[in-house]
Amino acid sequence: QRYVYRFGGGVSDGGKGDRNLLGGKGANLAEMASIDLPVPPGFTISTAMCTRYYEEGERFPDSLKAEVAEGIAHIERITGKTFGDAADPLLVSVRSGARVSMPGMMDTVLNLGLNDATVEGLAATSGDERFAWDSYRRFIQMYSDVVLELDHGAFEEALEIAKEDRGYTLDTELSAADWRELVAEYKGVVEKEWGKPFPQDVHDQLWGAVGAVFGSWQSERAKVYRRLNHIPGDWGTAVNVQAMVFGNMGDTSATGVAFTRDPAKGDRAYYGEFLINAQGEDVVAGIRTPQYLTKAAREEAGAKPLSMEEALPEVYTELAAVFDTLETHYRDMQDIEFTVERGKLWMLQTRSGKRTAKAALKIAVEMASEGLITREEAIARVDPQALDQLLHPTLDPNAPRDVLTKGLPASPGAASGLVVFDADTAERMAADGKAVILVRTETSPEDIHGMHAAKGILTARGGMTSHAAVVARGMGRPCVSGAGSLAISAKDKVLRVGGREVREGETLTIDGATGEVMVGEVATIQPELAGDFGTLMEWADGVRRLKVRANAETPLDCRTARDFGAEGVGLCRTEHMFFDAARITAVRQMILAEDEAGRRAALEKLLPEQRADFTSIFEVMAGLPVTVRLLDPPLHEFLPHEENEFAEVGRATGLSVEQLKRRAAELHEFNPMLGHRGCRLGVTYPEIYEMQARAIFEAAIDVAEKSGEAPIPEVMIPLVGTKRELELMKTVVDTAAKAVFAERGRTVDYLVGTMIELPRAALRAGEIAEAGEFFSFGTNDLTQTTLGVSRDDASRFLGAYVEKGIYARDPFVSLDVEGVGELVEIAAERGRKTRPGIKLGICGEHGGDPASIAFCEQVGLDYVSASPYRVPIARLAAAQAAL
Ligand code: PEP
Ligand code: MG
Repeated sequence: QRYVYRFGGGVSDGGKGDRNLLGGKGANLAEMASIDLPVPPGFTISTAMCTRYYEEGERFPDSLKAEVAEGIAHIERITGKTFGDAADPLLVSVRSGARVSMPGMMDTVLNLGLNDATVEGLAATSGDERFAWDSYRRFIQMYSDVVLELDHGAFEEALEIAKEDRGYTLDTELSAADWRELVAEYKGVVEKEWGKPFPQDVHDQLWGAVGAVFGSWQSERAKVYRRLNHIPGDWGTAVNVQAMVFGNMGDTSATGVAFTRDPAKGDRAYYGEFLINAQGEDVVAGIRTPQYLTKAAREEAGAKPLSMEEALPEVYTELAAVFDTLETHYRDMQDIEFTVERGKLWMLQTRSGKRTAKAALKIAVEMASEGLITREEAIARVDPQALDQLLHPTLDPNAPRDVLTKGLPASPGAASGLVVFDADTAERMAADGKAVILVRTETSPEDIHGMHAAKGILTARGGMTSHAAVVARGMGRPCVSGAGSLAISAKDKVLRVGGREVREGETLTIDGATGEVMVGEVATIQPELAGDFGTLMEWADGVRRLKVRANAETPLDCRTARDFGAEGVGLCRTEHMFFDAARITAVRQMILAEDEAGRRAALEKLLPEQRADFTSIFEVMAGLPVTVRLLDPPLHEFLPHEENEFAEVGRATGLSVEQLKRRAAELHEFNPMLGHRGCRLGVTYPEIYEMQARAIFEAAIDVAEKSGEAPIPEVMIPLVGTKRELELMKTVVDTAAKAVFAERGRTVDYLVGTMIELPRAALRAGEIAEAGEFFSFGTNDLTQTTLGVSRDDASRFLGAYVEKGIYARDPFVSLDVEGVGELVEIAAERGRKTRPGIKLGICGEHGGDPASIAFCEQVGLDYVSASPYRVPIARLAAAQAAL
């Protein structure tokens, strides 16, 4: 088996299709080389080697030696330099590269191949002694950190002392001789800390670095990142070994990162940052503040330092042409790393660029309009889940705001929360249900869990491509980066700016679209749903088969759902209506009644209220189906639980505290989720469902008479397990309908159906369909009852279950397709056999989850129903499922 694949100098052993084997970086380097873009020659050790490395106890097979030697020989042939040669040494970079990018998660070593002899050769061939010694000390420092795992503090300290001794403040003030002395000190540090001298054999250096990159695949931070991003641990990383090119060889050298379109807004404009006379990681690390790529961007920002377009016009023109070539070739927006070595442009990386939801939409719609991609591809390009970012409120421009400072608009969206200064606190407070803003001088991969837990991220340092910005955009968290006027003390838990102080636990608001940072909470407004969003949704609606409804039970929710494109209500839960302060007393009287007459008296009071509920919903949903579910929860939920509430409830309901407590004790259940709830309430107290059915039909006729457009009520019975239950309840509903129709001298069309949320119901769906005219899969309860996992208690252990791979994802979030899914399939099939064309939907939380929606499409359900804000996500996911 082959493990090494070469690229550059007219050779490409791989290409962009080999991402699984070569990792994203390696595959694209090979691809760029194959279309004659200037790529420094190199080779990729495949991900298969990473897997084997771990299988064989972190050892390399002997055969790899010869393959790597062949790879090095390839680089030597193209560059004319020799690895380890004292006169004209070849230097290489060693970088990780997984199938999907994991920014900053794994290790890199630059300038590899330098030692006491080759540094002299580099000085001679570059004609720049200072550069050679600076490169050597950078290499020792990086290698010691990444490969030898020594504490980098000792090196930084040595550098600080060297500067202090000489009266310097900046690194640039150090001369060749100074760096040479520092190298000696660095080597002393290594010997002291590591117990052995710094490795001088360039081949030892190379194997050390390759091992370290493979090793970083299993680092803690990489594992956390994989868990958060659902990346399997067995994918492994590739290792890319490539000839070094230098962006730090003076003022005609530079290094930068760029996007072929604006990754934040999606505009068709080159977008990026660069630094003159700097090496690779300097831009991303956020140590120096980078310069703009284009003149237009510089002018718009009112910045002084020249843009690349102005400072290096010829290379810039060449680079812009490469951007166009890459975008046309890959048919997607590209994220690019490049280096200019003494006026010569080199491409170091290209990949599909991460983008905000807003940019993803705009780019997809515009590329389809430009003819670069098809409409179907545009639909497939936008992550439905990411739409979430666009559907939530942004800051109200007219709301008063107390602006503290301004940074870069690194990731859009607005967020308010309590200030915290470290990732662990952010995670802890978020776990307590608090909204937090994580404030850091700059973030590093160690902060990833805190960034995930936070509602928003604020940093004092770093550009638009800094770690904080890239990771926040990927996570969809608002982020303001590089707010340079902030003085942050994580130790004292305080930030200071312009004579003001904000301490941990105080509230800040950040606006990731403008970069503003405000004290306190700022009012928000609803998002704009027209424009690119509207266009893509229209395209999506054109291809999807599944209908999309909403779970909504108030006129406001129904309105939002309709605005988001819902085609009906798939679940109107009636119990929440009963909690309304004005009617809870009547609800309690009904529950506490000792006999049917007492219950009927209380229900009589509830009828007009309930009718008004349905009227307002039917009005908003005019012309669309509305599935109303009759009362479901166990009755004890409506009773007081706290000692001090009994007296008050007693007064309101006219019962003594003793009576109340006795009744509450009678209603107590050990497992209320499996107790007296759902249709069991209707079986024992049919008058409750009778009242609800009457309210539905009276409201429907009222609305039909008033608007001329009759609503289409679908009356849904919860928690049915047997055909007989449904038959009994259907009779109650039909009888109420008949009575109302006779009284009003008019009818409306309606259906009576059932939820399928018990395994027995799924298995006996064939006969249940004889009584029910539709099924709606209540996959919340169906998951609970199939897995035997309580929805309310699962959070205590489900995290561990997901971590240990027992379930790939939380089964209450993403449908357990194998288990619960099989029951859904069985029920759909048996239901259809009895009643061909029976209407089938899903109304559990899974109705808004893209993966679960794909399953619903596969089973051929008629609709999914999701919470209002997830309706657009469901529309897009349904379209993708149909492609
Ligand atoms: C369900 O069980 O999936 C459902 C939609 O009903 P609820 O969540 O109200 O129990
Ligand atoms: Mg349920």
